[in-house]
Amino acid sequence: MKVERVVVVGAGMAGMHTVRTFREKGFEGEITLLGAEQHAPYDRPPLSKAVLRYRGADAIDDVSELAFAFDFEQAGVTLRFGERAAAWAPGAVTTAAGERLPYDALVVATGSEPVRLGFGETLRTYEDALRLRAAVGAGRALAIVGAGWIGAEVATAARAAGCAVVVHEAREHPLAAVFPPQVGAAMADWYRQAGADLRCSDPVTGPPPAAGHVLVAVGARPDTRWLGAAFHRARDGSLLTSEHLETNVPGVYAAGDVAAYRSLRYGGEHIRVEHWDNALRGPDTVVANVLEGVGAEVHDPVPYFWSEQFGRMVQYIGRHGATDRMVVRGRLSDPTWSVVWLDTLHRATAVLAVGRPRDLAQGRRLVGAGSVLDAARVADPGTPLVGATM
Ligand SMILES: Cc1cc2nc3c(=O)[nH]c(=O)nc-3n(C[C@H](O)[C@H](O)[C@H](O)COP(=O)(O)OP(=O)(O)OC[C@H]3O[C@@H](n4cnc5c(N)ncnc54)[C@H](O)[C@@H]3O)c2cc1C
Repeated sequence: MKVERVVVVGAGMAGMHTVRTFREKGFEGEITLLGAEQHAPYDRPPLSKAVLRYRGADAIDDVSELAFAFDFEQAGVTLRFGERAAAWAPGAVTTAAGERLPYDALVVATGSEPVRLGFGETLRTYEDALRLRAAVGAGRALAIVGAGWIGAEVATAARAAGCAVVVHEAREHPLAAVFPPQVGAAMADWYRQAGADLRCSDPVTGPPPAAGHVLVAVGARPDTRWLGAAFHRARDGSLLTSEHLETNVPGVYAAGDVAAYRSLRYGGEHIRVEHWDNALRGPDTVVANVLEGVGAEVHDPVPYFWSEQFGRMVQYIGRHGATDRMVVRGRLSDPTWSVVWLDTLHRATAVLAVGRPRDLAQGRRLVGAGSVLDAARVADPGTPLVGATM
C-alpha cells in the first residue's frame, strides 16, 4: 500500500526525529505529530541537570531553550500539541477530544510516564523540573525516593544549591538492578562525599517523615495503555516489535522508550532501552521500513547512555550478563575509573566509564565487534583499551 498519511503519536525525542527523518528521506505525504504536552518537542536529559543547576542569569527559564532545532512549518508538518491520543482502531487514532486521525502508517512514540507512589512529585516534564527547582534551595530539605539515575542527578543539583538531601533507596546500593555491589558501593560514596544522606535498604511506603519536598524517582513505565488490547506487549507494558520496530499490527511502528524490540545482537531477545540514544536511532529504522518496505533496515545499536552526577561523567555502553567477569581499570575510589565486562569467551560485553571518555569511545568499538580482550591488560588503566585486544 502506498503510504500517504503518517501519524506520529508522542512529540518527544523519538517522535520529533521520526518526523524529521521522513522529510529528510523525501517523503512528501501528510504528517501529523500529536503530542500530549503543550510544547514543541524538547530535550529531556537537561531537566535533571542544567535546568535544576543553573540559577540567576544562567537559569533556563523558557522551554524553547531545550527545543530541537527544526522548522515544522517549513517541513509541512501538522502539529497537534496539547492533544492526547486516547484510542486506536485499525487505520485510525482517536484523540481525547474525539477526533479521528486516519493513517497509512502509525508511529507510536509515547515514551514513558514516571511510576508514582501516591505521594511526592515526579520528574519527567519541563514543568516538573521548574517546580522542583523552585523547591530546592539553600536551607530547604529534599527527600528523594530512589537512588537511580534521576535520583542521583537531582541529589547532585540539590546539594549544589545548598539543600539538605536525604535519599531513600530500597535496594542495598544505588542502581542495584544494573550494577554489582562493588560499583554500587563506589557510587554510594559519591552521595556521601557530596553531603547527601543516602539510606540504602530503606524501602519507603509512605511520605518520608520530617521531609521537606519529596521527589519520587523509582522508574518509569511505557505509556501504551491508550492503545488497547490488540497490541502484543512485554510484561512492563512496552510494545513488542520486530527488529524492524514494527508491532504485531502491520503498519504500526514503535520507537524510543515505548518499544521492546527484538534484538538480533542479543539472541533475538526483546529489549527495552529507556535512553536518549535509542530514541534518536529508532526513527531511522522506522522510516526506512515504512518507505522502502519492511525489512529495509534493522534496529540494533549497542545500547548507550550517560549520566552526569556528583561532578562525574558516567557513561555505559553495551549490556553485561550476570555471569560476565568484571574487570576494573584503576581503583573504584579514584576520581576516574572504568569497568569492563567480559563474557566466558573473554569478549567485551559492556564498559562503564567514569570520567574516562576515551575508554567509552574505544569500548564502543570493542563491544560492537565483540572483541576478545586480555583481562590483565584491561585492568591496567595506562594501557589503551584497544591495546588489550588478543
Ligand atoms: C529527567 C530526565 C533525565 C534524563 N537524562 C538522560 C540522560 O542523561 N541520558 C540518557 O541517555 N537518557 C536520559 N533520559 C531518558 C531520555 O530522556 C528518554 O529515553 C527519551 O526522552 C525517550 O524519548 P521518547 O521520545 O521515547 O519519549 P519521551 O521523551 O517521553 O516523549 C514522549 C512524548 O509523548 C507524549 N505522550 C505520551 N502519551 C501520549 C498520548 N497518548 N498522546 C500524545 N502524546 C503522548 C508525552 O507527553 C511525551 O511528550 C532522561 C529522562 C528524564 C525524564
